Amino acid sequence: MSASAPRCRACGSSSVLLRGSKPGQFIKRDFEFYTCATCSLLFVEPFAGFEIYNDAYYRGAGPDPFVDYEEEYRDWRRTDRGLEFDDLARLADRHLAAHPPRGPIEWLDFGCGAGGFLKYLRERGTFAGQPLQLTGHDLGSYAELLAREDRFRILDLDTIAREPSARYDVISLIEVIEHLPDPSAVIALISRLLKPGGLLLLTTGNMDGRVARRQGIHYRYCAPEIHISLFNPRSLAALYKRHGLSPLSVRYEGAVSFKVLKSLRHQPVRRALARAALHLPPFVRAVDWLYGVSAMPCALKPTAP
Ligand SMILES: [Zn+2]
Repeated sequence: MSASAPRCRACGSSSVLLRGSKPGQFIKRDFEFYTCATCSLLFVEPFAGFEIYNDAYYRGAGPDPFVDYEEEYRDWRRTDRGLEFDDLARLADRHLAAHPPRGPIEWLDFGCGAGGFLKYLRERGTFAGQPLQLTGHDLGSYAELLAREDRFRILDLDTIAREPSARYDVISLIEVIEHLPDPSAVIALISRLLKPGGLLLLTTGNMDGRVARRQGIHYRYCAPEIHISLFNPRSLAALYKRHGLSPLSVRYEGAVSFKVLKSLRHQPVRRALARAALHLPPFVRAVDWLYGVSAMPCALKPTAP
């Protein structure tokens, strides 16, 4: 065990408070949870490493029982992710209508996973009357499949880091930042890669939601082998600002429904009931209030410094 106090993964502050510890599900050791007194990030030490993202993980047989990359890779339409994709596309539509691009829209899906969102965007084809040019980034076997079989432009991190500044109109980072040992470096890179006026679509769990606050580190989302950088609206907005991005308020609908259905993946009866209830907007808003989904800001790259 390290003798020195850890530094905040988001802001680097060494003013951190130990919140408690809990054991890993697969890695037999305790992990410590710290809160940063400066930016309020909740983070895990030590980082278990990327080795845990193996084929069992992608089947939902690892620390996250709610992922199913194989199903998403084969046909995202058979999953509930379309609800989330429609919602994110609606936000991009609104942004691009207000900031009409003058040429093809360059879109980077950072952490593209099994590629469902890339395929959704490819099928959709255009935004604001302009064609999409898609790039993805991820690690592992699905990234290789997406490049080889589906002919997507998939870049590794070293290649993305060498991309020219201000290349992308839109960058999506969907349920990725909580996995990153150095989220600050990735947001700095994304800020550099966004064009002035560009949009960052980012989703992650909210540690300030009512359920999260009540359950503390025992909240299910606090899975220390994989979710190591746990944000709330304040810590996320602070990270954006530190890297020259402006927080952007959003209101999610389908993304909220998707989170509910995903969490009930192994409970078919409750999932069917939830699917019916999610047709009622007040139910969606109640879930959003409990989990603070829409309280997590996206971001804009300002047009002038
Ligand atoms: Zn911090």
